[in-house]
Formats: sequence, C-alpha cells, structure tokens
Amino acid sequence: MAPQIGTFDIAIAGGGPAGSVAAVLLARAGFRVVLATLPPRAARYEGMSARVAAILARHHLPLAGIGPAAQRHVSWGAFQGGQNSEHLADRSEFDAGLLKAAQGAGVRVVFASVSSVRPDAGEIRLADGTCLTARLLFEARGRRAPRQSTELNRAELAGPDTISVAGFVPPQAGDMTTPRIAARPGGWVWSVPVDRDRLWLQAVGAASSLGQSSGKAAVAALWSAVAGETPLPRRSVVHAISPRLAAPDLDPRCPRLGDAAVALDPLSGHGMFWAVSSALMAVPVARALFAGEADLARDFYRNRVAETFWRQARVGRDFYREAGFQTPFWQQRAAWPDEAPAHETDIRPHTAMQVVVQDGFLARREVLITRDAPGGAAFAAGQEIVPLLRRLNGQPLPDAERFHSAVLPEAPPQAAQAIHQWLLSQGFTEGAQIPWDTANRETEPCNYDPTA
Ligand SMILES: Cc1cc2nc3c(=O)[nH]c(=O)nc-3n(C[C@H](O)[C@H](O)[C@H](O)COP(=O)(O)OP(=O)(O)OC[C@H]3O[C@@H](n4cnc5c(N)ncnc54)[C@H](O)[C@@H]3O)c2cc1C
Repeated sequence: MAPQIGTFDIAIAGGGPAGSVAAVLLARAGFRVVLATLPPRAARYEGMSARVAAILARHHLPLAGIGPAAQRHVSWGAFQGGQNSEHLADRSEFDAGLLKAAQGAGVRVVFASVSSVRPDAGEIRLADGTCLTARLLFEARGRRAPRQSTELNRAELAGPDTISVAGFVPPQAGDMTTPRIAARPGGWVWSVPVDRDRLWLQAVGAASSLGQSSGKAAVAALWSAVAGETPLPRRSVVHAISPRLAAPDLDPRCPRLGDAAVALDPLSGHGMFWAVSSALMAVPVARALFAGEADLARDFYRNRVAETFWRQARVGRDFYREAGFQTPFWQQRAAWPDEAPAHETDIRPHTAMQVVVQDGFLARREVLITRDAPGGAAFAAGQEIVPLLRRLNGQPLPDAERFHSAVLPEAPPQAAQAIHQWLLSQGFTEGAQIPWDTANRETEPCNYDPTA
C-alpha cells in the first residue's frame, strides 16, 4: 500500500497564488489542509495590478517581492504614453511568501512533485509514491494541470498558439526607469527594470515564429522575430501562454482554481487577479460541497469561469486590434474569440437568480443586472439590493433623504446614501420610474458589493 501523510479535509495540488491563497483561507476557516507543490524555481517577473495588492492586503496576506507602483509606458499603435500603473512582482519571492503564510496558518505544505490527482480515489499521488488523501481535492497546478477528463470537459476553448520568452538583458537607453509595453510587427514586448544593471524583458510571439528548428535555436528565432536586435538572454524562461478555458464545468470532487481553470493571455494583466479571486471562492465552494449542495457550487463555478474567460478574451482581442498591425500575429489575435462586444452597452436593468456568496456561504439570490454591473450585483453597502427595490413598489426613485426615510429607515444614513448613490450611477434617475423588468434571464454571476 502507498505510504500516506496525515488526515486531511482538503488536499491541494499546486502552490502558486491560487493554491496557496486558497490553502490559507481554507485553513483559517477551520479545515485541515495539505498542499503539495514544487517550490518556486527560476527568477520570473510579472506586473501586479493595485487591485491584487489590495485584495491580498485585505485578507492579511503577505506581499513579499512586490515593488512600489510605477506608471507603465505604452507604445501601442497610435497610443504612445503613460497608462495605468503596476507593481513589479518577483514571482519567486511572492510565491514563497504565500507558501510561508500557508504554513503559518496551519497548512501542511509538502514540497514534492505531484504525479497524479485522482478525484475518484480522493487522493493526490506524489512522484515518490506517497498519497495525500482527503475528502475534497483542489487542482491548482496552473497551466501544467492536465486536461480535464472528456466527460467533464465538453468545451475546452483555446486561443491562438502563443509563446513567451523572457530573461534578463543589459540596460538599454531610456528603458531603465519604468515598465514598458510595446507592440511590434511580430508580437509584443514587456520590459521592466529590476535593478540598475538589469532589465527583465519578455518577448511574446506566435508559436509559428519558433520556425522549423528546435531547442535554443527555435527560442532565438522567436526572440529575434519580436525583440529584434536585443541579444537573447543567457538564461531564458519559455512559456506557452495561449489563453484557454481549461475546465468550464466543476468536478465536485476536485474543483479547479486559477490557471488550471482559466488561463488568460498575459496581455490582459488579469492572470494574478483571477488566480487570487478564484482562490477566494475555495471556502464557500468547499462548504457547499461538504453540505451536499453540489448544484450551488456547480452553478457558481460555471458562471465565474465563463464570465472571466469570455470577458478577458474579448478585452484582449480589442487590445490586439488597437495596435493596428496587419501581420499574421496581430490579425489572428484580433479575430479571436468572436465578434461580440467585450462590454454590453444596452443592458436594461433587470433581475436574475444567481448563486452568490453571502457571509462565506453560497446561496441562490436575486441580483440586479445593469450595464455597469453586467455580472449582477446582489449587495450594496451590506444590503440586499433587489428586496430593497421591491420596497419601492414600482414607484419612482425618490431623493436621497426620502430614500432613507421611506425605503431604508433601519440603515444608517451613510449606508442609505451609498446605496442611493449607487442606484443613480446605474441609471436609476431620481424621480423617474424605475425601468426594470423582472424577467429571470440567465446571466453571469456576481457576488461582490459594488459600493464596498
Ligand atoms: C510569461 C507569463 C507572464 C505573465 N505575466 C503576467 C502579468 O504581468 N500579470 C498577471 O497578472 N499575470 C501574468 N501572468 C499570469 C499569471 O502568472 C498566472 O495567471 C498566475 O500565476 C496563475 O496562478 P496559479 O496559482 O493558478 O498558477 P501558477 O502560478 O502557475 O502556479 C502553479 C503551481 O503549481 C506547481 N506545480 C505545477 N505542476 C506541478 C506538479 N506536477 N507537482 C507539484 N507542483 C506543481 C507549480 O510549481 C506552481 O507553484 C503571466 C503568465 C506567464 C506565463
């Protein structure tokens, strides 16, 4: 019989941001958790948005290896200039910090290679034959997670084959103070100063740029097709980075998190946000599955991954279009995944039943869907929105004072005002009849409080 380690409620394969944040939160929620992962390896740098840093801080999670925010210089077709800011993230340090936090929260972290995740047997098998058994498994091995079994994976969707080659290059004139992203005919480059003497440069091109050769020659071919004269780094890190919806449906014995569920084009800058926000769903999903409410978990998961994939794929497509190049690299990516708009602009406010997170548990609730909250909003300033609107009984939205006294007298004035303000921002004009229909259309979910 295979040797086993301990007794656990939950076993997680993979300790990137998705796996380790989920492990911390599950342990804090009282579950006995084991996590098996390979330790962070070679140097690797990414850009982290302020939103990710804020979520981590809110959950008292460490921000090891995260630098201060710096404005990014963008050279993208007609657009040349400063846009958005990002934090330089040293992924080795960042991942190590989260794994340490997991250990601190009581998670048993096993540094080992996972050879298989077996939902049917409730076990994760390590390369040395050791088994980690648990009532529930989570798959968080990122893009290295194997494809889901065909019966669950009816519709894996993948974008054009794209490769990233990155590494340290010597300083270049004018490039040593800010992160820069630039569109080139053969792909795009992102560079960021790491210290006075080194720039981290990432060149992204089509897999076809690798040419007929293999190994280092193929990498060099892609690099020169995108980065031009800049010499190939002595040690380059190569990743396949095609966007893909890897697991559209939930396996109730082994939910997937982060890139193992939906892997995004790094151009979106949304990968870490998704990894961390998907980890936030681990606790409510685990609670639902342990309580025998797999249907809630299934609906919640399906909506979250579909919303993330389609929205980000279309946002990415529009960004590729903006570069204005007509080379095959750009044409292919400007046409994928479809022609639908990234943001619906003609959504009439309406309600729908969705699965949301309420006080750490999944629940089916009515949500309000508007143009600015196409994913639906269940709560505003801690109040359930739809029952509140029902109190208006089809009457026009009153002014803020009357809204407080007539609709929400039990709430503190600031909360009533915040909700009133939010309703106005969603197109509920003061004094006008509320233009909503209550058709229960099936749409994407949302469990966030837009005023929080
Ligand atoms: C080149 C590149 C650039 C990117 N740039 C950005 C960016 O600028 N901004 C951004 O937000 N996102 C970026 N991303 C996306 C971001 O890196 C991912 O979305 C994020 O890391 C996903 O987190 P995860 O935990 O799901 O997976 P990962 O971070 O991939 O973590 C998976 C973990 O599983 C472990 N693992 C895998 N296989 C095994 C195994 N067999 N046994 C044991 N352990 C295993 C790995 O060691 C790793 O620790 C980029 C991605 C790439 C590839």
